[in-house]
Amino acid sequence: MDQTCDFCYNTLMLRVQIDIPHPVETLFLLLATGGVILWMSWDPVQGRKTQASVAPAHAASVTDSEAGGGPDRQARILALRSAEDDARRIRTEQAVLARREEILRYELKIVEEAGSRSGDGAAVRVAKEKLLSLLADERAAEERFRETLQEMWEAEGLTATVAVGSPGVVRVLWPVEPDEGLSATFLDPAYEQRFGVQHHAIDIPVPQGSAIRSAADGVVDKVVDNGLGYSYIIVKHDGFATLYGHASAFFVAEGDTVRQGDVLAKSGGMPGTPGAGTLTTGPHLHFEVIQEGERIDPLTVLPARPEVRQAQ
Ligand SMILES: [Zn+2]
Repeated sequence: MDQTCDFCYNTLMLRVQIDIPHPVETLFLLLATGGVILWMSWDPVQGRKTQASVAPAHAASVTDSEAGGGPDRQARILALRSAEDDARRIRTEQAVLARREEILRYELKIVEEAGSRSGDGAAVRVAKEKLLSLLADERAAEERFRETLQEMWEAEGLTATVAVGSPGVVRVLWPVEPDEGLSATFLDPAYEQRFGVQHHAIDIPVPQGSAIRSAADGVVDKVVDNGLGYSYIIVKHDGFATLYGHASAFFVAEGDTVRQGDVLAKSGGMPGTPGAGTLTTGPHLHFEVIQEGERIDPLTVLPARPEVRQAQ
């Protein structure tokens, strides 16, 4: 017995002597490697504003059958989804930031064109000054794009938690008159190419300050005023929900009961004005329809209008 252990001990010593000829240097190397592994596993997105607000979305999107197998499995699925979402968000952020100057120059061109057409000189002037200062200040522009992305992801997280579990028949009316057709369709490839993000909505161009009407009877679920950032209203209906983006002034509060056609807010979207955020090129309503936590193409549930351009 003793002999065997001595043999083990000797073998161990021998191996140690062979494998670690410089113990001090090796210890440093091990510590450094451990540090790098720790650093790589640390998620810089953790603790940011969206992480907390988007978390319920993961929880809501995992069904009981998927999560079957106990809390460990559920935790692993949640962690995996969270990691996938974080990776997607980081990719999107990089894509948008890479395009930021192009987006700003495009917006500036649109604002100048709008200025030469419309009578709303004040809004156009504000937007132009805002864009020019953003163009001049690279870091401020980058920060504004980041903020808008965070606000959009927060809205996405909020919509994923409404209208879940009780699919109803979606009956909606146009929240604004689509007299000028659509400026962006659901999953519009041109939109994605322009802004670097997918478009899960339709954009209906209307003059700045137009009345936004509730598309159906319901209860106001969220009123989010982000100042010059992306502002919006979410209304919960019977088995589905609707979102009205780029609101520039609000006429309802959270918890209010609304009837179809009631005015909820004033529209916006002109760059540099309240509610617009940075991913917009002109006055319009961004309209989403949410069913079972997923955003669906509003054109599939809205009454048909011959003047409205269909999906490309
Ligand atoms: Zn939109």
